Amino acid sequence: CGIVGYIGKRDAYPIVINGLQRLEYRGYDSAGVALFSDAEIKLCKTKGKVADLDKKCKADIDLTANIGIGHTRWATHGEPNDVNSHPHISNSGDLVIIHNGIIENYESLKKELTNRGYTFSSDTDTEVLVNLIEDVQKNDNVKLGKAVQIALNQAVGAYAITVFDRKKPNELVVARLGSPLAIGVGEDEYFIASDASPFIEFTKDAIYLEDGEMAVVRLGRDVRVREIKNDNLV
Ligand code: GLU
Repeated sequence: CGIVGYIGKRDAYPIVINGLQRLEYRGYDSAGVALFSDAEIKLCKTKGKVADLDKKCKADIDLTANIGIGHTRWATHGEPNDVNSHPHISNSGDLVIIHNGIIENYESLKKELTNRGYTFSSDTDTEVLVNLIEDVQKNDNVKLGKAVQIALNQAVGAYAITVFDRKKPNELVVARLGSPLAIGVGEDEYFIASDASPFIEFTKDAIYLEDGEMAVVRLGRDVRVREIKNDNLV
């Protein structure tokens, strides 16, 4: 399972798809990509190999974008199929997430969210997490980074995540507990990946998150790393 992300001026799609290919050694059963351009999130995902995903994306979606995230999934909750593949989108359509790991208390969180009117199209724990983040964002009226932090403090489990908000298209929020996550720092661009192999050709400057850390990766400013459990605003 693996995670790739890009935000900057380059074409995001080739970076993401090549990055996923380099992370194939980690093992997976499905793969997916989300690209952002023209105020729209474009999703493409499939059970099977990254090569299958590449074919599908080329056939189905406009690949022009400077922001993109990609995922290889090793199913833990919900069978390997197209719908359960990541990325997952929140009910509003604004938030998109990729996740490696497990949210152990997803059933109780899902119940609470269902009571509040949220619906779910997949069987994954991950779709619960992205809607929890959305719920926090709405109820507490906080920025994405803070919403991710509050939501993760309610989640029990292990994760490496990358979250993108359509309404704030200059940043990616990432977090790690139990699964690896690296941030590649370029000039006016950032890379996200499970290890440095997807971005090593672009930059040697990398920040490796420690367990329990999160970061707001925003264009035009330095990466801000914080403890997930710390109260400090991100
Ligand atoms: N638990 C998540 C799922 O089943 C993520 C699995 C993974 O690590 O790829 O979709």
